[in-house]
Amino acid sequence: MSIDLKENALPGDLEQADAADLVRWAIHRFGTRLAIVTSFQVEGMVVVDMAARVSRSVRLVTLDTGRLPPETTAMMREVRERYGVEIETVHPEPAEIEAMVRLHGPDLFLDSVPRRMLCCHLRKVRPLERKLAEFDAWIAGLRRGQSETRGQVQRVEYADGRLKLSPLADWTSADVEAYTRAHGVPRHPLYAQGYTSIGCAPCTRATRPGEDERAGRWWWEQGTARECGIHFSADGKAERTVDVLLREVLQDPR
Ligand code: SF4
Repeated sequence: MSIDLKENALPGDLEQADAADLVRWAIHRFGTRLAIVTSFQVEGMVVVDMAARVSRSVRLVTLDTGRLPPETTAMMREVRERYGVEIETVHPEPAEIEAMVRLHGPDLFLDSVPRRMLCCHLRKVRPLERKLAEFDAWIAGLRRGQSETRGQVQRVEYADGRLKLSPLADWTSADVEAYTRAHGVPRHPLYAQGYTSIGCAPCTRATRPGEDERAGRWWWEQGTARECGIHFSADGKAERTVDVLLREVLQDPR
C-alpha cells in the first residue's frame, strides 16, 4: 500500500507504509542524520536503490572488517559508479584488533563461539556503534524470512536513542528477487557461486539446496543464532563470555 507520509508521521502510518515510501519518508525526515547501513547483499541493495531514487546525497554506511572478500570491494565500486553516491566505510579500531590478534591469533573465530563473537564485536559491532552516534535514524535490509532468529524483526523500532527502520521486514526472498530484476539492481557476484548470505570471507561459504539462507555463516558452529551481534545477540552465555574476553583485549597494556 502506498501512503502519503507527512514529516511527523505516526508509528502506525510507518508500519503501514510500503517499503519505498518508508525509505523516502526517512530521507526527507532525517536528511544527513539518516544512515543506510548495508553490506551490499540483495536486501541491502534494494534499500540502496530505493534511497538513490530519492536522493544521491543519502549517506550509505558500510563496515570494512578487514576480512571482507574481494567481491565485496568490487561491489562497492559498482555501487558508486551506478548510483553516483558516496560510501562511508567504517573500520575497526586498529589498536583493538592488534590486541585481539596478539592475545588470540588472527583466526580466533575458529576456536570457540565466544572468541568468534569477540571478533565480530571488535570488527563490526563497536565500529558501527561509534559511527551511529552521528545519526538519529538508520535503515537496514533485514527480512523476517531470513532465519528463525529474524522472525520477529520490527519494521519500525526505537533503540539506543535512535530510530531503526527495516522496510523489507515483511518481504519474501521472491519479493527481493522481483524488485532486483525489475530495477536492474546490481547483484553481489558471490550469489552466482551459490552464496545466500554474504559476510567476511573466512566465515561465509556457499549454501546447499534446502539449507537455511544463513546456514553458510559460521557454519562450523552448532546451536548458535548465526548472528554477529549488530542486530541480534547470540545466546546469553556467549555474550557474557565475550564481555570477559572484551575486557581482556581492551585492558591489554601493551
Ligand atoms: S564474520 Fe568472522 S572475520 Fe568477520 S568479524 Fe565476525 S568472526 Fe571476525
